[in-house]
Amino acid sequence: MVNYRKRKRESSADASRDRVVIHSCSHSFITIKLKSFHTHVNKHTQMHSITTSPAFFKTAPSSSSFLSSFSGKRGGVSRRFRMESPTRVESSFSASSSSSSSSSSDYDMLQAMCEAVQLCAKLTSKTQKLLETSDQVSKSDDSPVTVADYAAQAVVSYVLEQKYPDVALLAEEDAKALRGGSKEAQGLLEKITEITNDCVFGDDVSEYLSREEVARLIDRGNHEGGSESTFFVLDPIDGTKGFINQRQYAIALGLCEKGKVVGGVLGCPNMPMTKIPENVDALETEKPGVIFAAYENFGCKYAAMDAKEPLGKDSFIATSDQFVKCGKDGARYMESWGDSIVADHAFTNALSEKVGITRKALRIDSQAKYGSLSRGDAHIYLRFPPKTYREKVWDHAAGAIIVSESGGVISDAAGVPLEFGKGRFLDINGGIVASSTPELHEQLLKAIADLR
Ligand code: AMP
Ligand code: MG
Repeated sequence: MVNYRKRKRESSADASRDRVVIHSCSHSFITIKLKSFHTHVNKHTQMHSITTSPAFFKTAPSSSSFLSSFSGKRGGVSRRFRMESPTRVESSFSASSSSSSSSSSDYDMLQAMCEAVQLCAKLTSKTQKLLETSDQVSKSDDSPVTVADYAAQAVVSYVLEQKYPDVALLAEEDAKALRGGSKEAQGLLEKITEITNDCVFGDDVSEYLSREEVARLIDRGNHEGGSESTFFVLDPIDGTKGFINQRQYAIALGLCEKGKVVGGVLGCPNMPMTKIPENVDALETEKPGVIFAAYENFGCKYAAMDAKEPLGKDSFIATSDQFVKCGKDGARYMESWGDSIVADHAFTNALSEKVGITRKALRIDSQAKYGSLSRGDAHIYLRFPPKTYREKVWDHAAGAIIVSESGGVISDAAGVPLEFGKGRFLDINGGIVASSTPELHEQLLKAIADLR
């Protein structure tokens, strides 16, 4: 059990590490450029900087044939990953010098975001298990789902505040309904406080937060966003319907700076670590799940949800499939289930037919779809809500950077990049499309324009 209150101020030491930049993509190779820069190592949590060690370029789990080989030395380097088939990757290494350096905070921040998401996943996994045998499965006032939503937000808010008290939080939930003073509201807050304390402090009751403190932690998420400040963006349980129905869901945490998403962590507590099999139209649930993490100009990595070092030796590089095309056995697209307001299966059917996709749609709840795209399980994410629907920043911030840092492309249906600096909502034209490659993306946008 992690006791955040008892943590001392982090001691730190400089250590050099490498920055991964998707440098260029073509059909024959992707070059990833690593720039050496400096960061602090958090000795207390034993979190080490990302290095050029072979572990950083660890191959994907056994059932995937993602292979990488490694040679080289510390410092600015350039890596070329030669793709031999859509699922097989070999990397060769050629050294070149780079002297770029950056401030220490970005890696530490991503690390703190991973910690918050991993802790939160323990809470949500426990609650989802309870739901299996519970009758109270609607998102009404005192259902376990509501309690889990609020408590998950309180846990993430707590961890982030301990480490970054000056960075604001923009999150889906607020504690208004919990402050009403009614018996129901008090009972609900009591339950949320209990679950939050259990998750963060375990049996150490001397550290327990009061109900008022928990409500304040939830309300820290009231930030209005915009393009001026730096803030975290959180959806504590994205894909509530998936959560209720024992399917996929995600804990989605982004970091915005000056209106731009610069970091993202996506916890998918039910996602298999292995690639989605070819001939399925839904994703099996499997523990412990997967955590994805991306930072601007750094790349995207993924690891088992319970990994000790999800950015370090326990992680794998996420690379979207850069060779995929439409046609027989080619691109596979993902969409929401039919119980989602953002699903338009008639339109996605028509679109896939128009571009020549022959494979069946893969239906996955939540931003887990962005994670699947980032590691090449599937290649397209199509989302077409009704015209009156307004997309929220917390439903896409983490996923958007995870897609772009793995080499994919994301925009609205008119090809305009998503703008995260306009407040709590996104202004989008006709839907959201994410694709493994720029070519695929262009093809889809053209087909959408033709169909409309
Ligand atoms: P997905 O799992 O792909 O359906 O996306 C989940 C997100 O879409 C949720 O977190 C909601 O923000 C939004 N969403 C889906 N269905 C609805 C609905 N019926 N009403 C409001 N928002 C919805
Ligand atoms: Mg959501």
